[in-house]
Amino acid sequence: MEVQHARIKNGWFTEVSDAHFPGQGFSLRVEKVLHHSQSAFQDILVFKSTDFGNVLVLDGIVQCTERDEFAYQEMITHIPIYAHKNPKKVLVIGGGDGGVIREVVKHSCVESATLVEIDKTVIELSQRYLPEMSCSISDPKVNLQFCDGFQFLRNIGSSDLDAKYDVIITDSSDPDGPAEAFFQKEYFQLLNNALREDGIVIMQASENVWLNINYLGELIQTAKSVFSNTGYCYTTVPSYTSGQLGLIVCSNEKDLRLDVAHRLPTSEEQQKMKYYNPKIHHASFILPTWADRILNTR
Ligand code: SAM
Repeated sequence: MEVQHARIKNGWFTEVSDAHFPGQGFSLRVEKVLHHSQSAFQDILVFKSTDFGNVLVLDGIVQCTERDEFAYQEMITHIPIYAHKNPKKVLVIGGGDGGVIREVVKHSCVESATLVEIDKTVIELSQRYLPEMSCSISDPKVNLQFCDGFQFLRNIGSSDLDAKYDVIITDSSDPDGPAEAFFQKEYFQLLNNALREDGIVIMQASENVWLNINYLGELIQTAKSVFSNTGYCYTTVPSYTSGQLGLIVCSNEKDLRLDVAHRLPTSEEQQKMKYYNPKIHHASFILPTWADRILNTR
């Protein structure tokens, strides 16, 4: 029996979010629905598209497509890792498709990578339908934890230095479902507590300059109220609404240039990358004039 989904009509899947992206929608042509279920946390849809490969959708929002996922996974991973001078211990919160972990383990300097995903079903489905993204989940450096990322951070004691991280990547879904708490001040405080002194955090901002720049500005202000050094950059991903996604990067090292790769990729590392390079690392922090005025003069 053919699997039905409310967001698929006449062979097209359409993402609409009036709360966040009013007056627009984004559609992909569906070849075949591969899976649809309601997990304990969210609505999960996986379909094969005619032009973007397999697509993972949570609560009606596209998380990744096989065609363009590298643009997101590489930038959210390599920007903080190359901006850090000696990253050994990395934490990824969310990230059940496995794409970020795949990028983290490309770094020979990284000794351990912990992945904290709330929904085991996302990992299982990604292993089945997104094999090129989930290929490193069983890597010996990877430690998998199935729990709420917010709770995981709450359990890190402020004086427990061994439990802290050099780089923390929040690869979460958007604020409307189980990831809602990641976009509030307490989350930035928990990140701050879980970070080593010279550590760097990065999170997907769910927004970009074309969508809701005022909300984005507020989120950046929240980050600035907790961290002494905060930057905003973006990556271009055609299957995210309006084609780009913002990333907020923070550290407590006031003079650290977050927009610079302080270590350069080895030629072996660079060969494994399709989007990231040190020039695009720097360029991704440069904003169009109107957006720069709004976001950087607050
Ligand atoms: N690249 C994607 C994007 O920005 O659209 C995000 C990818 S990844 C699939 C997001 C993951 O975050 C999901 O698998 C979801 O289950 C997980 N997640 C959401 N809330 C979470 C929470 N509170 N703790 C841990 N993981 C969470």
